[in-house]
Amino acid sequence: MAKELRLQGIAASPGIGIGRIFIHRRHAQPVTRQTVSDPESELRRFARALERARAELDELRGLVVERLGTEETELWDAQMMMLSDPTAAEGTRERIRRDGQDAASAFHEVMEQISQQLDAADSQYLKERASDIRDITWRVVKHVRDQGQAPSIPRDSIVLAHELSPADAAYLATQKAAAMVTEIGGKTSHTAIIARSLEIPAVVGIKGSLAQASQGDWAVVDGNRGTVILNPLPATLESYRRQQKSYLRHVADLRKLRKSKAITRDGHQVELSANIELPEETVAVLSHGAKGVGLFRTEFLYLTSDRLPTEDEQYAIYRRVAEKLAPDPVIIRTFDLGGDKIGGQAPEPEANPFLGWRAIRFCLDRPELFKAQIRAILKASAHGQVKIMFPMICCLEELRRAKAAVEEAKQELRGDRVKFDEHCQVGIMIETPAAALTATALAQESDFFSIGSNDLTQYTLAVDRTNHRVARMYDPFNPAVLRLVREVIECGHRAGIWVGMCGEMCADPLAVPLLLGLSLDEFSMNPVAVPEVKRMILNLRLDQCRRVAARVMEAESADKSRAILADFVIGLFPDLALTCSVEGT
Ligand code: PEP
Ligand code: MG
Repeated sequence: MAKELRLQGIAASPGIGIGRIFIHRRHAQPVTRQTVSDPESELRRFARALERARAELDELRGLVVERLGTEETELWDAQMMMLSDPTAAEGTRERIRRDGQDAASAFHEVMEQISQQLDAADSQYLKERASDIRDITWRVVKHVRDQGQAPSIPRDSIVLAHELSPADAAYLATQKAAAMVTEIGGKTSHTAIIARSLEIPAVVGIKGSLAQASQGDWAVVDGNRGTVILNPLPATLESYRRQQKSYLRHVADLRKLRKSKAITRDGHQVELSANIELPEETVAVLSHGAKGVGLFRTEFLYLTSDRLPTEDEQYAIYRRVAEKLAPDPVIIRTFDLGGDKIGGQAPEPEANPFLGWRAIRFCLDRPELFKAQIRAILKASAHGQVKIMFPMICCLEELRRAKAAVEEAKQELRGDRVKFDEHCQVGIMIETPAAALTATALAQESDFFSIGSNDLTQYTLAVDRTNHRVARMYDPFNPAVLRLVREVIECGHRAGIWVGMCGEMCADPLAVPLLLGLSLDEFSMNPVAVPEVKRMILNLRLDQCRRVAARVMEAESADKSRAILADFVIGLFPDLALTCSVEGT
């Protein structure tokens, strides 16, 4: 019997999939040039293949609309346009007529020329179009060869592939795949986003998994933890079947809360919103019942490309997000580049990037780039409830300079008679001890605060958030961090502004009662985490949260804070016992 093998990758879409492995290889048969004896019939075969490929794309598009309940069909629309492009079809027909070349290789060669040009382009956007073109080529070649639909995949298969295109991912959804595993790709790859939207468990970034797996072997995919188990032993399989059952029950229960507001049992309401990195994630925001976006990390528009998007490109994206989520708010954070978020055009290496030319510092030094982004955000504010947020503010002077840029952009737009929301709120992230300790002054000139607990923890404890050697010391429950959090909320409230949090901390089940008890007004997190936190809020009472928060604030260590909170949370929510990490992350 084959040995059980555990592989660790990146958890890309939650849930547990159990099934037999189906290895998905796109180009099973190479496309080699052939000569045909009857070019006329080859032309007819090519025309038929184009027609079938179009029909197939149309069907997939319909499926995505139906399954996602969305208009996110750009991907299919773009592929359809490419497929209808007369140049490629004419080029193919000419090779068939002139050289008696077979349709599959003729089309393949024509399309390969185009995709190689796109591959060589600087822009990530164009590179992605190259992969769209390869997707179309494969689709047409398959029909020329009369291979019909992609091989149908046995129901409940675990699909293992080197890479999947978003169209592949959608197709696999139609085939009721139990889970997807890819060797490449990250959490924010489009495939991962589509898997999340279609609610198919997925793990990405497992290098070398294809070499270790065989067609038809049993496997378990744990999309919550990013683990794949090949050839699970009967006991492992049994344990995962139990976990899968309880996970599905849990998800079904949580789904019922989608439309509920986040109100405690004694009537205290907070806002529960989502963090997004890419515009496509609005689908997940809505499907998980979040109220708008509390943090749009716009730097990902740059990190997934090789250049910053232009003002017009940004405007189109921000507007789309604002319109999709209106009347709920969308808080757009200006570029937070630097630190661990370095794109293709990284500035010179810095010895301490987290303490260096980062976030608002970078933007204030690049006024043209900063203003273009602010103008784009302001223009989008005419189409929904948009707010602007500055990252990593350390002092009043930075806030004033950033706000001056907003004023300047507003003046320009007024001059150009471009519409925007004159009352668009401007707030700041509190992510440095310096900002937390001067929150009273900053609150006088901000419309809101959002606590960036990820960075606030890093800077307060002097622990690099990306350095695994010191990971054990990185703990938002450290009393130093908790006191700063309390201070910021109190200062904000004294100045009459609302205070939210958009760091990972607020999605931690241990932190939920604590932050409620400290009177946090808004919790913003990964969309997937929203339903669980909402369930907790609906079942908590503000007065008990206040009492437990008071005890935690007296604790002398992170361990003690966690122990108090774990007792409280597990007492009320025994099913969370596994998720509540008392020892920290
Ligand atoms: C934070 O620091 O808590 C935050 C939300 O910002 P980011 O994780 O993008 O640095
Ligand atoms: Mg941050």
